[in-house]
Amino acid sequence: MYGDHLETVCGCVVGGAGPAGMGLLFNALKSGAMPELAKEGLIIVDASPTPGTGRLGDYRITANSVGDVFLDCLRDPALRDVFEPLEHSPAYWRIRRQAQSAPQLADVAELLAEASTLVLDFIVEHYGVKLWTSTTITEVVSHDDEYQVWVESEGRSRRIRCRAVVLNLGGRQDPQHLLDSLADQGLAVPPSSRVLSADVLLRMNGVQLRDYFAPTLARKGRVSVVGGSHSAFSVLENLADALEFAGLKEVTLVHRSPIRLFYETAQAAIEAGYPFDPLKDVCPVSGRVNRSGGLRYRALDVGREALSNGHIGKTGVRVQLLQTQNGPEGHYESARDALAESDVVVQCTGYQPLLPTLNYAGGGAIRLMEVKGGLDSDPSGCPLDSHGQRLYGLHLFGLGAGLGVDPRLGSEASFDGRIYGVWQFHHDASGAVIDAVLQRLQQPVLQPVSLSRKQVASRDEQRHPFLWPVLANAQT
Ligand SMILES: Cc1cc2nc3c(=O)[nH]c(=O)nc-3n(C[C@H](O)[C@H](O)[C@H](O)COP(=O)(O)OP(=O)(O)OC[C@H]3O[C@@H](n4cnc5c(N)ncnc54)[C@H](O)[C@@H]3O)c2cc1C
Repeated sequence: MYGDHLETVCGCVVGGAGPAGMGLLFNALKSGAMPELAKEGLIIVDASPTPGTGRLGDYRITANSVGDVFLDCLRDPALRDVFEPLEHSPAYWRIRRQAQSAPQLADVAELLAEASTLVLDFIVEHYGVKLWTSTTITEVVSHDDEYQVWVESEGRSRRIRCRAVVLNLGGRQDPQHLLDSLADQGLAVPPSSRVLSADVLLRMNGVQLRDYFAPTLARKGRVSVVGGSHSAFSVLENLADALEFAGLKEVTLVHRSPIRLFYETAQAAIEAGYPFDPLKDVCPVSGRVNRSGGLRYRALDVGREALSNGHIGKTGVRVQLLQTQNGPEGHYESARDALAESDVVVQCTGYQPLLPTLNYAGGGAIRLMEVKGGLDSDPSGCPLDSHGQRLYGLHLFGLGAGLGVDPRLGSEASFDGRIYGVWQFHHDASGAVIDAVLQRLQQPVLQPVSLSRKQVASRDEQRHPFLWPVLANAQT
């Protein structure tokens, strides 16, 4: 096969098969790139026994897009045969019925899990791809023109040598990141308060939330949420729903810049009385207001209510919105006092990428350069190290890493974060990564790392026009 049992050699490792890693695999299959990607050997490594959806289904919230956006990831002629069994899937039909509304992420994840299993089985069988489940990537070493990926499974360690690594292990919310960003604004959280990440909170059920907040509610302690994105408004709603009848009266939302709302057109925003900057907040390609950075769907409803009447959804829980940068008079001081008095501070200030230990072969840790919202990488997710050197052959674009806005697709000028979402993973983001990986695999190697392996059947001749009626009818 690909080498002996202690060292394996292949062309590419896909590390992490959550929505980002799977997006790349779906895209490679539908674009016809899979034979080339798997030619020198492709190993998929994931810590989970059942990879495919990562954390997405654990969040107890609705999606920030309509169901059809997820169906669109499955809708392609090249995937027709692979996905035929989904026609009998209740998860598929649940999303289909919500094609024009935002489904629960748990339902989205169920569909993606089923679709991922079909894709993984297919590429293992037809392209000789190796799938290593329950296997954790512990270290990635950059060595000349190749990478060494150290993995652990059932207490055993082994090494994969490869030319390209696509590394999407998910994201994390480092509390220090929150404290540093508050400190930059002259704000602080007292050592006595508990910092809870939105990532953890959004995965808690009502009972877990009531348990966690019981001591705070008992002493009538203050709860502050820091951030102004989707996560922040999802957190507000989950807190109010779970804790209203346990005694929660008010939550403070501390946000740096104005809360941005999404509108399909500038006219719709004007009619709703929403103030926006026609130059900075409108996407020149689509004409949408706050296309990248605006709240959508359920978070939009919660945001609108909060801005207009100071309540969270339809509950009786109040929310005080405090803008710390260029906000109304007194907001900064009130935010400083609120944080100083808070018993619990919920961190909704974005993600950092979850990374294994990264080292250079000669010794020394690799530190990846960060920008607002993710990593400083090129359009193919290839990052810079702290010396400004590009790490050719390494690609990250999932949660915590993200990609910069593609000007061809458009965005609003005021948005300076990184873009990530399931649709992007399955389309533009992974498309650029596939191109870059294939280009690298075609370049001559300094030291040959590939072993000969059996040819796998090309799928090109199997590609027929896609007519599976159920998916074909779903609206884009
Ligand atoms: C609260 C929240 C809501 C979101 N809602 C939406 C939405 O509505 N629509 C949308 O399009 N996007 C949404 N996103 C953005 C994004 O689509 C999800 O975060 C998505 O789960 C990110 O996928 P990922 O593959 O980058 O990471 P993850 O989902 O975290 O998957 C990581 C994968 O890597 C594996 N892994 C982790 N560590 C290791 C290791 N050391 N070795 C091997 N494998 C490992 C895991 O088992 C997992 O399979 C949301 C994000 C958040 C945080």
